[in-house]
Amino acid sequence: MVDLKATLADAKFVTFLTGAGVSTASGIPDYRSKNGLYANQQDPEYLLSTDNLQQHPADFYDFVKSSMYYPEAKPNAIHEKMAAISNEKGAIITQNVDGLHTAAGAKHVVEFHGNLYHVYCQKCHATVDYRQYLQSDRHAADNGILRPDIVLYGEALSEQAISQAVTAVSQADLIVICGTSFRVAPFSLLVNYAQNDARVIAVNEEKLQLPFPFEMLQADALDVFQQL
Ligand SMILES: [Zn+2]
Repeated sequence: MVDLKATLADAKFVTFLTGAGVSTASGIPDYRSKNGLYANQQDPEYLLSTDNLQQHPADFYDFVKSSMYYPEAKPNAIHEKMAAISNEKGAIITQNVDGLHTAAGAKHVVEFHGNLYHVYCQKCHATVDYRQYLQSDRHAADNGILRPDIVLYGEALSEQAISQAVTAVSQADLIVICGTSFRVAPFSLLVNYAQNDARVIAVNEEKLQLPFPFEMLQADALDVFQQL
C-alpha cells in the first residue's frame, strides 16, 4: 500500500490532477457515472456543445441550469487538503467546472475546462454574476445571450490553461491523480509532460488501467484525504 502521507511530506512539488470524483462528496454528481448527470440524457455531448448553445440556446440553458449548477455545494476534505498542500508546494489541475478547489482557498489552480460560476455575455463580453444567469440567460443591458465560461464540446481549450497545466506537471516530482478515470484526452495527455523520475500515484475507488507507470492507491478518496 502506498503511504501517501509520507510521500506527500517528502515531495518537493506536488501536482494534483482531479476529476468529478473529488466533488461527489460535496453533493455534485459524477456526470460520467451511471447515476450521474448524463445517465438520463439522450445526447449529453450535444446538449453541452457549442452547436446547441448557438442553435438552440433555450435548450442549452435549460439543461445547464437544471443539471449543472450546485451553488450550495461546499468544498470537502479532499479540496481542503489539496489546497493546503498545493499552496505550500504545488498546483492543482482540475477537469471540474464547479469552482470548489478555488472555494477551498487553493491559489495555484488550473481550471482546465473553465468555471460555471464565471458567466459572460456573448454579445458585449461583459462579466455577469452567475445568480443573474440562473434567473435569465439574457443580458439585461443588451439582450445578448449569456453563457458560462466552460469549454463546450466543439470548443478549444484555453491556451493559457494548457500552458499553465503543462508547467505545473513538468515541475512536479509527485503527481497525484484523484477522482478521475483519466481516460479523457487532452487532460489525460498532460502526464506526458512529467519528468522521467516523477512519481505518479492514482487514488481511486476503482482500479485504473493507465498507459504509463503509476502506483494505484485503491480507496475512497475522501477517506484517504481525511486521514492526511
Ligand atoms: Zn451584453
